[in-house]
Amino acid sequence: MSINIAIDGPAGAGKSTIARKAAAELGFIYVDTGALYRSVAYYCISAGADVSAPESVEKLLPEITPELRFIDGVQHVFVNGSDVSDKIRTPEVSMAASKVSAIPAVRAFLFDLQKKIARENDIIMDGRDIGTVVLPDADLKIFLTASPEARADRRYMELKDKPDAPTYEQVLADIIKRDHDDSTRAIAPLKQADDAVLCDTTKLSLEESVETIIGMIKKVKDGNNR
Ligand code: C5P
Repeated sequence: MSINIAIDGPAGAGKSTIARKAAAELGFIYVDTGALYRSVAYYCISAGADVSAPESVEKLLPEITPELRFIDGVQHVFVNGSDVSDKIRTPEVSMAASKVSAIPAVRAFLFDLQKKIARENDIIMDGRDIGTVVLPDADLKIFLTASPEARADRRYMELKDKPDAPTYEQVLADIIKRDHDDSTRAIAPLKQADDAVLCDTTKLSLEESVETIIGMIKKVKDGNNR
């Protein structure tokens, strides 16, 4: 049986950086499910669809084949055979991903793919609804969070040297809007599972956060090997 670790939390909590480092150290595959929602959003934007209109997004789903490939342990996101890993990281795609992720048909479309990866591999999977919906029987569920200002700070540092970088105020406003949209949507809202461990990284450095998470996962892994 594969070991499944679920990490959920709001945008910018450090889920992906922390999960990627923990997975590399522990020999798990890291699965970033946000990338799947982003790849659907990216395809819809490229096709000129209105991502706020569910019908126009739903119409395109049969044309989209998202795929996660793990190359040297690093996740790459492909859509219809093209590597879109970098293209899906823009603020425009972030906001569009949040919009398409509220459409039930999009969630159903990506559900099976996520289940299949988890069934076949030891994984650390991050997202918004992994502990609550996708992997309700995960071996360990972590809810990773931090204050909106701390999260905006970290996101801003990542984006600031890119062309057309947003201001800190824009990044903070986007984070607050996405938090609101993700946690108030009718389907699979962002929320801590009843049996998830809460980890607040506002005052922790990246190294401290990684160490904390690795410590939690090691206990599960060692327990499984007994
Ligand atoms: O994690 P990331 O910021 O890349 O996710 C982009 C968007 O995809 C989120 O704002 C959220 O709306 C959506 N998402 C989701 N469920 C997941 C992962 C991401 O709804 N499991």
